[in-house]
Amino acid sequence: MPSIIEIKDLTFSYPHTEKPALKNINLSIETGKFVAVIGPTGSGKSTFCYCFNGSVPRLFNGDMNGSVVVAGLDTYENEIPILAEHVGLVVQNARSQLFNVTVREEVAFGCENLGVAREEIRKRMDEALAFVGLSGFEDRQPSALSGGQQQRVAIACVLAMQPEVLVLDEPTSELDPIGSEQVMQVISRLNDELGKTIILVTHDMDFVTHYADRVIVMNEGEIVEDGTPRSVFSQAELLRRIHIRPPQVSEVALELKKCGIPIGQIPINLEEAVVEMERLRHAH
Ligand code: ADP
Ligand code: MG
Repeated sequence: MPSIIEIKDLTFSYPHTEKPALKNINLSIETGKFVAVIGPTGSGKSTFCYCFNGSVPRLFNGDMNGSVVVAGLDTYENEIPILAEHVGLVVQNARSQLFNVTVREEVAFGCENLGVAREEIRKRMDEALAFVGLSGFEDRQPSALSGGQQQRVAIACVLAMQPEVLVLDEPTSELDPIGSEQVMQVISRLNDELGKTIILVTHDMDFVTHYADRVIVMNEGEIVEDGTPRSVFSQAELLRRIHIRPPQVSEVALELKKCGIPIGQIPINLEEAVVEMERLRHAH
């Protein structure tokens, strides 16, 4: 698979700050991958997200070095509306930023800015709302919807612009479990059914193990680990150092291993944990 994202030696500092928010980032992401980004608060995850659609350095005009190329377009050389046709960003707290009077106007807004024809906008809006499970909500007021529905409206807004890459910054934080699950289902289908490349920032490690092909771990503006969920969640020392709790089943297995119990591979979900415990029970 070819890469849809290539980042080389990226360093970025906000104006009037001493420490860079992003440091020496080198990364290549293959088309169609589901990539999770995790890390403690302040580690640079949101800043990283802003790099994909050109918000860094155009809206946050600090000091940027290195290059970010998305779908063949260098983000330094291309305007945000050009990049928006290739990469959609659902920002942190997106649902609190819905400002239009109706869902219809909200979803149409981005496409109107891209100069998409009226009939085409209508078609895209119908498709995007159907995809996120909100057909029939066109005339509703975004502020009157549930948190999960609002987040799905925010996703429909970027989906209507038909980008190949979707970047979502903590889309389930502050949602109840049902709302979170519905939002994650939509994100998963964007990847599975539409083949979109997904970059998801999340604190929910169970979502990471369930959906991601690859996990990028950030700390103090740097990528400190990059691998499969299993390889990342097997690294007890690193995770402890940066205050990230792995999924509970992995945590239990890591603790048992520390006590000298010969755990084989670290489980990342309940099914695997049950198989491993059964194996240990028979072996001992
Ligand atoms: P995360 O999303 O992982 O919590 P952020 O990308 O928001 O991290 O922040 C990374 C670093 O950049 C932090 O030290 C934060 O204080 C700083 N930062 C974030 N936004 C700005 C800004 N607009 N101006 C100056 N510093 C910022
Ligand atoms: Mg953030």
